[in-house]
Amino acid sequence: MKKKKEFAVIGLGRFGGSICRELSNLGMEVMAIDTDEDRVNEFANIASHAVIADSTDEMVLKSLGIRNFDHVIVAIGDNLQASILTTLILKELGVKNITVKAQNDHHEKVLRKIGADQIVHPERDMGVRIANNIASNSVLDYLELSDEHSIVEIIANDKLIGHTIIDLDIRAKYGINIVAIKRGKEIIVSPRANEIIKEEDILIVIGADVDLDRYENYLS
Ligand code: ADP
Repeated sequence: MKKKKEFAVIGLGRFGGSICRELSNLGMEVMAIDTDEDRVNEFANIASHAVIADSTDEMVLKSLGIRNFDHVIVAIGDNLQASILTTLILKELGVKNITVKAQNDHHEKVLRKIGADQIVHPERDMGVRIANNIASNSVLDYLELSDEHSIVEIIANDKLIGHTIIDLDIRAKYGINIVAIKRGKEIIVSPRANEIIKEEDILIVIGADVDLDRYENYLS
């Protein structure tokens, strides 16, 4: 039988705590580590093991057998020194996969230098996503086709109105395709290249999410 993946989460604040809970919900083996006794107690019944430990102490990490974990997440909040030192020790001990929460761009730079495998900025990234969602007034609706592909309805704006499809050249520029145009009650399926986009047209566009996002950013 395939061995269950083993994770260790260092730092049980909002971010690390949330990762720990979710991994446990997913049925993974998780060791929860924090210097704060109350935080550790909170996770005693959630994680597979919860231990009070200072991750900047190499001997402590060694004695926990940290090297044998498949993936270690460093979610130490404001203490950059502790976060960097912990990552360095994990790296030196030969941990294969290390994800670290970065507090700012300088922190990220250092983490990259010392070899963190993934660096995440949860607050910044979530802020960007939410801002994009609330700012986008071009997308009316979308249908998820897979994890990575969607069909979206885009309302024609000044950047589109009066142009032909060939003129917009979005297949070459963005790798996405206009599959239909809704014009009032009419639906033009597979519009021709010389079709001119009119005011109030709704374009039905298919493509990879990353490409659709790029296009929406261009339109907004
Ligand atoms: P968040 O912003 O995700 O809520 P916090 O700053 O509240 O993050 O939480 C960070 C956690 O990391 C705290 O629970 C803190 O006790 C823990 N922590 C800080 N330094 C260490 C360390 N050297 N070893 C283990 N845990 C630590």
